[in-house]
Amino acid sequence: MSITEEILQMIKQYDRIIIHRHMRPDPDALGSQCGLAEILRATFPEKTIYQVGGPVEGLSFLAEMDEIADECYQGALVIVTDTANSPRISDERYTLGDKLIKIDHHPNDDPYGDLLWVDTKASSCSEIIADLAFSENLVVTKNAARLLYGGIVGDTGRFLYPATTAHTLQVAAKLLDYGFDASKLNRTLDQISLDVAKLSGYLYQNLQIDEHGAGFVVLDQAILKKYGIKDSDTAALVPLPGTIDVVLAWAVFVEQPEGYYRVRLRSKGPVINEVAKRYHGGGHPLASGANAKDQVMCQAIYQEIQKLCAEYQKQH
Ligand code: AMP
Repeated sequence: MSITEEILQMIKQYDRIIIHRHMRPDPDALGSQCGLAEILRATFPEKTIYQVGGPVEGLSFLAEMDEIADECYQGALVIVTDTANSPRISDERYTLGDKLIKIDHHPNDDPYGDLLWVDTKASSCSEIIADLAFSENLVVTKNAARLLYGGIVGDTGRFLYPATTAHTLQVAAKLLDYGFDASKLNRTLDQISLDVAKLSGYLYQNLQIDEHGAGFVVLDQAILKKYGIKDSDTAALVPLPGTIDVVLAWAVFVEQPEGYYRVRLRSKGPVINEVAKRYHGGGHPLASGANAKDQVMCQAIYQEIQKLCAEYQKQH
């Protein structure tokens, strides 16, 4: 039996299905979670499907969450999308269900669940959900197609990053056929506030770049306050150093109100997720995240990125 058949078989066994995703959701987390929820609602109208995980911050144009009681988990199937590590699953009640399915595209460092489908070659978890729907002939609604397309666009940087394959584009083309307004969606995903635009200027002005193309910038609480920006608004800033020709890999350190730093690492070549793993994080080879307790630890992480860039330059 193929993995899609196994997943479908398990779905068919449950009347209630609760779908989770990771904390601090991005378009792929919401796209895969709520795209799957829409598809299951349309395919199995007799089942009750919930999408949970708390506030979606600036992404409510994609979807909103359901609020459910603990009792709902009794005898339910729980599916978690786009979440590599169990501590990052939003809403820890994911353990209260009868069975648990993990569907993800990150390296499978934490293989939780009773049934797992992890495809690290997929551009996004939304691409995997689309594969599930198309291979098992599930009902894809216009809004489900919009959500999955949004997830793919989000995680591929609108088809820019190397995880974009011919298959990704084929899936995206199929989704476009459902007739949602892709141009409007792309514009909305791309849009930034004037405050974020102004902070972009600060980021470009203050980015430190070494001779090997390793870059870093610190966005501390004083700067975030000055520009009126919350941590959740910083997502649009993270890819910006990559638009600079001499930058090869970079770190954006965002100070949190509690004093520690959220570390966001990106790369055009050097593999950076091993560094992230050493600092309570993880992620993809070219896009990962971690946490640093202070500026000293931020500097240690940057030094590791510098080393990787120097080695990479020697080999290429
Ligand atoms: P971000 O910089 O938050 O957009 O994250 C980039 C990638 O790294 C995503 O695929 C995340 O799943 C992963 N990631 C970010 N933070 C962590 C963390 N603390 N632990 C594990 N993976 C993370």
